[in-house]
Amino acid sequence: MKAHDGMYIDGGWRPAATHDTTAVVNPATEEVIARVPAGSAQDVDAAVRAARAAFPGWSATPPAERAARIAALRDAMAARKDEIAATVTAELGAPPKLAQAVHTGLPIMVAGSYAELLETFPFDEKVGNSTVLLEPVGVVGAITPWNYPLHQIVAKVAPALAAGCTVVLKPAEDTPLTARVFAEAVHEAGFPAGVFNMVTGLGPVAGQALVEHTGTDLISFTGSTAVGRRIGAAAGAAVKRVALELGGKSASVVLPGADLAAAVPAGLANALSNSGQRCSALTRVLVHKDQYEEAVALAAETVAAYTPGDRLGPLVSAAQRDRVLGYIEKGVAEGARLVTGGTEPPLERGYYVSPTIFADVTPGMTIAQEEIFGPVVAFMEYEDEDDALRIANGTVYGLAGAVWGEPGAAVDFARRMEAGQVDVNGGRFNPLAPFGGYKQSGIGRELGAHGLTEYLHTKSLQF
Ligand code: NAP
Ligand code: MG
Repeated sequence: MKAHDGMYIDGGWRPAATHDTTAVVNPATEEVIARVPAGSAQDVDAAVRAARAAFPGWSATPPAERAARIAALRDAMAARKDEIAATVTAELGAPPKLAQAVHTGLPIMVAGSYAELLETFPFDEKVGNSTVLLEPVGVVGAITPWNYPLHQIVAKVAPALAAGCTVVLKPAEDTPLTARVFAEAVHEAGFPAGVFNMVTGLGPVAGQALVEHTGTDLISFTGSTAVGRRIGAAAGAAVKRVALELGGKSASVVLPGADLAAAVPAGLANALSNSGQRCSALTRVLVHKDQYEEAVALAAETVAAYTPGDRLGPLVSAAQRDRVLGYIEKGVAEGARLVTGGTEPPLERGYYVSPTIFADVTPGMTIAQEEIFGPVVAFMEYEDEDDALRIANGTVYGLAGAVWGEPGAAVDFARRMEAGQVDVNGGRFNPLAPFGGYKQSGIGRELGAHGLTEYLHTKSLQF
């Protein structure tokens, strides 16, 4: 059976329980490029049963053998890197360079990191007269968003498999084709049947069935805070483990006297990457009042290079584009100064939004508080460092942040930020460092050893 006809369950592509499908749209052309089956509760049940049946065998497989399979998965993904990048470009609209480097290169690296981590990771440790064992939690339900279609999958599936868990994945409705390439790579890597399963379909149907299934022991979700809240509530009612990677409204803080020529372009590169569809985007830029107008002018100059259709891709869907345009209208209505960009479509075709800079944004405005998930950046002015800290920490979110300034002062400031990761003076993304949020940005951490322990139980044996 052709991949596009079914669900990946128990080691092969199985027909879906119903004939329902969802459409995949290329957001640059607005054309339907594929249809994939929309999974039902019945498909989820079959996938969870397969994962349960595979769990005793996989959890008892020695870590070195699990590492070998994960290394084979990395290699299978690497062999398909051009296909992955082209697929991400087709269904997400990511410009080819971004699709290759970030959407393809990063997940291959993350998969490899778990094969390596297994060589040294201690699954038991001595505490006095006890041995503490770290054991796989069981069957993992993974629910992923469309913004980094492959990375979000690998950041859950690789550590779960490394831990000895088995998995049922429900990828995002908007980007199921990348997920299918991933499932094919898993197949080629030679995992035992049922260790990894995938059901495509709609969140409120297939996703919810996965959350509510009594056969899933842990739900790992990345997406909106609204859906995360509901999943957390359902998991709480069932006393099921849950990991939530949710939204953000992260601040880039330019301390007094910092080098604007470094801070402003780097902050915008972060905020506009992936067309601003990133949970950790630095969408608020905080600048001291003495440097504020200079920073805003530099921002306007900088974004001129982000040409829609070239360096800046479209948004994933018409719905996301409309949502972002609604925020731009709200920004204007609430009195922010539109420096550049706006709601005018930059191209005739595709869900493009011009890179948009707002100045004179105050903390009470909607565009200073809510996650926009598009190429929209708010420049905010502060009086002194305490004021900057109040503004930076003054949202319900706490995912990421950045600080620019004299190194000692910048680190002191970073320590006071309520955020799961802070980049100091342009520090690079580290795929081994824990990633996750404070406050309503989530619960739990992904990547590296911290990401692996999310999928482990602890058991103490006393001697
Ligand atoms: P979303 O609805 O939270 O989707 C994330 C994942 O959850 C998708 O696989 C989705 O399926 C699934 N889902 C939706 N409702 C569900 C339910 N009731 N039970 C179980 N699973 C469910 O996010 P979205 O609608 O794609 O995007 C909306 C906003 O969320 C964005 O504008 C952005 O602000 C935020 N977002 C954040 C991140 C992040 O990385 N933190 C990523 C994406 C979006 P479907 O694909 O079928 O909806
Ligand atoms: Mg949705």
